Amino acid sequence: MDKISQDLARAAAATVPGRAGFDYLIVGAGFAGSVLAERLANVMGKRVLIVDKRPHIGGNAYDRYDDHGVLIHPYGPHIFHTNSEDIFQYLSQFTEWRPYQHRVLASVDGQLVPMPINLDTINKLYGLSLTSFEVEKFFESVAEKKEEIRTSEDVVVSKVGRELYNKFFRGYTRKQWDLDPSELDASVTARVPTRTNRDDRYFADKFQAMPRHGYTRMFERMLDHPNIKVMTNTDYREIVDVVPWTHMIYSGPIDAYFDCKYGKLPYRSLRFEHVNVPQEQFQPVGTVNYPNDYGYTRISEFKHITGQKHPTTSVVYEYPCAEGDPYYPVPQPQNAQLYKRYEAEAEATPNVTFVGRLATYRYYNMDQVVGQALATFKRLQQAECERAEAGLNLSAAPVGR
Ligand SMILES: Cc1cc2nc3c(=O)[nH]c(=O)nc-3n(C[C@H](O)[C@H](O)[C@H](O)COP(=O)(O)OP(=O)(O)OC[C@H]3O[C@@H](n4cnc5c(N)ncnc54)[C@H](O)[C@@H]3O)c2cc1C
Repeated sequence: MDKISQDLARAAAATVPGRAGFDYLIVGAGFAGSVLAERLANVMGKRVLIVDKRPHIGGNAYDRYDDHGVLIHPYGPHIFHTNSEDIFQYLSQFTEWRPYQHRVLASVDGQLVPMPINLDTINKLYGLSLTSFEVEKFFESVAEKKEEIRTSEDVVVSKVGRELYNKFFRGYTRKQWDLDPSELDASVTARVPTRTNRDDRYFADKFQAMPRHGYTRMFERMLDHPNIKVMTNTDYREIVDVVPWTHMIYSGPIDAYFDCKYGKLPYRSLRFEHVNVPQEQFQPVGTVNYPNDYGYTRISEFKHITGQKHPTTSVVYEYPCAEGDPYYPVPQPQNAQLYKRYEAEAEATPNVTFVGRLATYRYYNMDQVVGQALATFKRLQQAECERAEAGLNLSAAPVGR
């Protein structure tokens, strides 16, 4: 046992008499783990140890200032958006917000045009001046009729036809997944709308905002509780057998928890190339997509997103790749089946709760993970109430009955 583990084991054991160790060991300090740590400590007074193998909290949403003093998102741009007032209110306890609506342009045929495709995209691309009504007719005239919508290709060509599919979606998807859209579940492109008006916002959610002082500050405030101990740079396997705990919340990859006994769940990864540019602005909007040219899929400029004022600017290029951190579960039926086998194992594992996007092998946005963690907390709370009631009933039952 190393020094830190010894200290922790001692600290955990020397707390309240009769309550040795931590009530909860939480693996992963991203949204899933941090929301649960906060709720368990604040609402239920539980003693929590939260560990992350990375050198920081916040998971993929972690942000920091780069060497030039620009606030960046090391794991790619993270834009908060949700339709849930409850989730927005919950997070508002830990941060103030800066209103922000994300805009994306796509570099197609030598022009920058709005993405998702809208009225202006079509007019600019083809040098037209259609009205909303006319563009609707245009989409109808180019759309391919499909009996059944099964793949990502079906979703797009049945809405906007093959030419726009080739210009905006096919190349991007092939770069992103190293698979043709015809090989991918419909869910991948179903999320991207097509608009007949001039709305050029990337998201249409009711609440769209960025944490005013960044995500990391928000996570620091969530985890700032005397009952919560945070350990970064620590794989949970280093301490799981030396630190006493009662229940584990696991938000790492589910296949890794079971030593990949049924095989590895496939993920797509990204290589991020961060660059500081000695000028005030690099591009007109937060993100520019490159569906057909270059090895990268998109470039994002953080100052648009964070609202920071600075004489230089920092951007990130995203290069999709097969190896690296697990970012996107590959949405194919055979992978969903493999996940089901791990899910069955997880359900049969006592005292461990699996939560978050890696532990449930699903692409979730941040708000969805917060929602999942809050729902998990309610279930844990309910289960404890039921146990307490059962205990009371047991002790109230007449002896000898
Ligand atoms: C490029 C990119 C861009 C995104 N952009 C957006 C966006 O704009 N808006 C949005 O809403 N969502 C976005 N997301 C999704 C968002 O990142 C996730 O919803 C969110 O981070 C999920 O939180 P989580 O806690 O489930 O997982 P994570 O944030 O991945 O946290 C899990 C943590 O577990 C730790 N861990 C794993 N194994 C171990 C172990 N053995 N021991 C200890 N620790 C371990 C990991 O280090 C990690 O920090 C984006 C995702 C990516 C990849």
